[in-house]
Amino acid sequence: MNKELQQPVTQIKGIGEETSEALRDMGIETIEDLLMYFPFRYEDYEIRDLADVKHDEKVTVQGKVHSEPSLMHYSCKKSRLTFRLLVDRYLINVVCFNRPYLKNRLSINETVTVIGKWDQHRQTITAVEIKIGTQSEACELEPVYSARGALTVKGIRRFIKLALEQYGGAIHDPLPASIRQTYRLISKHAAISAIHFPRSHEELKQARRRLVYEEFLLFQLKIHVLRKIQREHSRGISHRFSMEKLEQFIQQLPFSLTHAQKRVIQEIMKDMRSPHRMNRLLQGDVGSGKTVVAAIALYATVLSGYQGALMVPTEILAEQHAHSLKQLLASAEVSVELLTSSVKGKRRKELLTNLAAGQIDIVIGTHALIQDEVNFHKLGLVITDEQHRFGVEQRRILREKGESPDVLFMTATPIPRTLAITAFGEMDVSIIDEMPAGRKKIETYWVKHNMLERVLDFIEKEVQKGRQAYVICPLIEESEKLDVQNAIDVHSMLVHYYRGKYRIGLMHGRLSSEEKDEVMKAFSQNEVHILVSTTVVEVGVNVPNATVMLIYDADRFGLAQLHQLRGRVGRGNEQSYCILLADPKSETGKERMRIMTETNDGFVLSEKDLQLRGPGDFFGTKQSGLPDFKLGDVVHDYRVLEVARSDAAKLIESHAFWHDEAYHWLRLYLEESGALSGEKLD
Ligand code: ADP
Ligand code: MG
Repeated sequence: MNKELQQPVTQIKGIGEETSEALRDMGIETIEDLLMYFPFRYEDYEIRDLADVKHDEKVTVQGKVHSEPSLMHYSCKKSRLTFRLLVDRYLINVVCFNRPYLKNRLSINETVTVIGKWDQHRQTITAVEIKIGTQSEACELEPVYSARGALTVKGIRRFIKLALEQYGGAIHDPLPASIRQTYRLISKHAAISAIHFPRSHEELKQARRRLVYEEFLLFQLKIHVLRKIQREHSRGISHRFSMEKLEQFIQQLPFSLTHAQKRVIQEIMKDMRSPHRMNRLLQGDVGSGKTVVAAIALYATVLSGYQGALMVPTEILAEQHAHSLKQLLASAEVSVELLTSSVKGKRRKELLTNLAAGQIDIVIGTHALIQDEVNFHKLGLVITDEQHRFGVEQRRILREKGESPDVLFMTATPIPRTLAITAFGEMDVSIIDEMPAGRKKIETYWVKHNMLERVLDFIEKEVQKGRQAYVICPLIEESEKLDVQNAIDVHSMLVHYYRGKYRIGLMHGRLSSEEKDEVMKAFSQNEVHILVSTTVVEVGVNVPNATVMLIYDADRFGLAQLHQLRGRVGRGNEQSYCILLADPKSETGKERMRIMTETNDGFVLSEKDLQLRGPGDFFGTKQSGLPDFKLGDVVHDYRVLEVARSDAAKLIESHAFWHDEAYHWLRLYLEESGALSGEKLD
């Protein structure tokens, strides 16, 4: 960025070798690093009305000394000073430990500022600081930095102050005046000064607003440039296929496609035909019918003489997808094979040989697909389902197995828009925002454990009507073993409860894949009436005759997961039910149950989930590709994010951005971040 600010911190008068070493340990080497080392919170010394202060809260008050301070010595070093203080209409007590010298400095009727903890019951402040006189406005908000090693918060404050005094003038503003005017943003220099030493809440707010916008804009510019380069320079496959055959295939499906399905298929086909590589995210709520879209895209690649691969996160799902794709494509003379880690020995060898020879058209599998031994003859399309479970790296490996195959990512649960545009900003997005006709809204109930018997009787009624039910077992974080035990216990409880009247299946992660297959098959053929399971059935499983989903300890699951589980029912034409069995203790647990009963819309739900859990937890992994913003918070600042995104898109397409002097700093940033050379394309 700016040369002057790139100098080492020792250039600052007042910072010597020793300090600079301590700063280096915290990752601060240049003056810029120091200026950009933001406080993580502020000590709020704003004077408040005691009526608004809660018990045990920290508070700053101003008042008049109302009684002669009394001093008690416990030992030579330990003492306790107390006096009465008149604050507005309240008369309170102040206690101060180990500062005996204050006794002679406080006289009756003198105005003092006291900072400390408020004990509401005793009407007492235990003071950490007592200042004589009124407090100056200037230090209402005091920055608190994380300090390590030899450095103290006070020290850091001082060094930053020095840096600002000596080098503040060298801070360039990368934002052109036109943008600043449009949004009434303060200058970068003002913002950096104020983020460290705000003189008021309002000033801090403006500083943050300005810096967050810049942070998001830079990020979005980078993403948009990458996307532009990717589009223009990617040499992909121009798929050539007969529309007629594709139409025929669509005609013979057991249902007609929804408008939304037709639309996203158009979008995908357009990408596949174009010479650029497709890089598309397909979003759609649970049950919106993504699988058939995948099947059509895979068929199109096969019609063009290529192979297609579908990668899913679990074996059950792989098996099920293989099964339904075989069915869907049966009439089309397409060979579909399943490749998971449980395909072994001779069968595996044969399969790998055929795949490499191009005798298999479509392969469906788990992580097994990205192993070295798997080679394709002519890979044209890669689809990954339940996308966010795969790391960025795994997606890259699969993609590299062909020569720039088209790539389609499908998500099980809608990703909140704010996350979608940050984590997947460089992708094109297709959304299925419509459910197949005839679907009834799943009725969701939240019941306490003491209602279990009534719930079980309800399940019995459904089973007697010919329907089926899932029973999902209590979840124990990090312990698959205990989850399995829970499933076994619940299974035997149900066998006992229904006295052998119904067939009750058991499914968990410890079963071999043949066993799982068998259970799933029996369930899908209604030979098993009630399926007790751990969360292995969570994603994708499709048994339209199942109408009840009972979830034990539902409050232990995240909203996205509950929605996924709920999505296992309501897949046919019968009225379906989701029953959440939970006695949540935490507020968020209760909140989650309430939200589940209130909405069936995955998009609404994922937004709420994001608010409850925060962006870091939403994907569950750090691999999500979600950047760490210094200040910006994709949840709270989503409006700014949206604005920055649309601004970035417009800028990149404008002539001025690439030529005007006003955008010099932004262009320089893009250059330095490597975006312009496209080196960070993955
Ligand atoms: P998801 O989007 O959750 O992966 P699926 O692809 O598993 O959803 O589809 C859910 C169910 O809806 C399946 O039984 C599928 O056959 C059915 N389905 C898909 N599209 C339609 C449609 N247009 N009309 C009726 N049923 C459909
Ligand atoms: Mg699916």
